[in-house]
Amino acid sequence: MMPFTYQRVVDTRAALMAAAVAPTATYISGGTNLLDLMKLGIEQPTHLIDISRLPLDAIEATADGGLRIGAQVRNSSLAADQRIRSDYPVLAQALLSGASAQIRNKASTAGNLLQRTRCYYFYDRNTPCNKRVPGSGCSALNGFNRMHAVLGSSDACIAVHPSDMAVAMLVLDAMVEVMDTGGVTRQIPIGDLHRLPGTTPNIETGLTPGEMITAVILPPPQRGRQLYRKVRDRASYAFALVSVAVVVDVERDTIVRARLALGGVAAKPWRAPEAETHLIGETVSAEVFEGAADIALTNAVGRGGNDFKIPLAKRTIQYALAAASERG
Ligand SMILES: Cc1cc2nc3c(=O)[nH]c(=O)nc-3n(C[C@H](O)[C@H](O)[C@H](O)COP(=O)(O)OP(=O)(O)OC[C@H]3O[C@@H](n4cnc5c(N)ncnc54)[C@H](O)[C@@H]3O)c2cc1C
Ligand code: SF4
Repeated sequence: MMPFTYQRVVDTRAALMAAAVAPTATYISGGTNLLDLMKLGIEQPTHLIDISRLPLDAIEATADGGLRIGAQVRNSSLAADQRIRSDYPVLAQALLSGASAQIRNKASTAGNLLQRTRCYYFYDRNTPCNKRVPGSGCSALNGFNRMHAVLGSSDACIAVHPSDMAVAMLVLDAMVEVMDTGGVTRQIPIGDLHRLPGTTPNIETGLTPGEMITAVILPPPQRGRQLYRKVRDRASYAFALVSVAVVVDVERDTIVRARLALGGVAAKPWRAPEAETHLIGETVSAEVFEGAADIALTNAVGRGGNDFKIPLAKRTIQYALAAASERG
């Protein structure tokens, strides 16, 4: 591990100022991803700014009836919050499907959003990886790519974003609140936080250097039933092969509102707006759900080892839509 200096801050402005004067500094929150990357030499910050004790750990009601989730709220606290469990159950389900209880007790809301891919080659410094070393090549393209992306990938990188929480936040139309090193705050739709790889897979978000996530804002609760379905190799403690988050509002067997997002299939949580449009106004039926699933995966491309994800994603979408549409 490379030597580094460490600084604990208890004030948000102090954290931002520390980042401003040390361009190679990195924020550390729960450290459940960053420390692994540092031990492997994949991330080599010269200075760690420990933001885990910033006063950003509250879940507060917003004026319009939504919720503001502080960046430091732990995954376990968020999943256990009564308002999340009753009004945003898709988010509680997604959180509880991720990692283990111990990791969720440490993992923060912001850290979860900014955790890095689990591509095996990204973690193996002996293999080419454009995300780790730009221009070196992508070992997964013709390698072992069972976990990799079928949507939105490029020949430079086919990694997926591993967060479950982010998929549920996307289906809920969450906004990410960030503050730059000058103290200026802006909000980013969560679907725009992460970038697709294109030719620069090493650039993963639209955040500026030192910019800090301070909160995630959920809009007021949506009508309809919510569901998060995660398919993985083990029943727990495994990343998604495919996951699906849905919100479906059905009135007298007619779908009046539908939201659909996928995880484990792209470098970012993936929304399927054309599939949502296909569902609205339709009578609940297996055929309609199958049509929506086909539309959601229209542009999917398999790379060999991950071909199975395309039919798997379709079946998982159909299951989630059917389960969320059941009455009673
Ligand atoms: C064995 C294992 C299994 C796992 N399984 C799952 C799973 O099934 N599903 C899932 O979703 N996740 C899973 N995870 C990932 C886990 O959820 C993440 O490691 C965790 O959410 C990261 O949060 P953290 O606070 O520890 O982030 P850290 O490791 O502290 O930081 C992660 C990144 O975020 C940056 N960062 C942190 N906070 C901020 C901020 N406020 N502003 C700007 N940048 C910030 C850091 O600089 C760093 O780059 C697993 C992890 C492990 C180790
Ligand atoms: S898929 Fe992306 S992260 Fe994995 S080896 Fe290729 S470039 Fe690296």
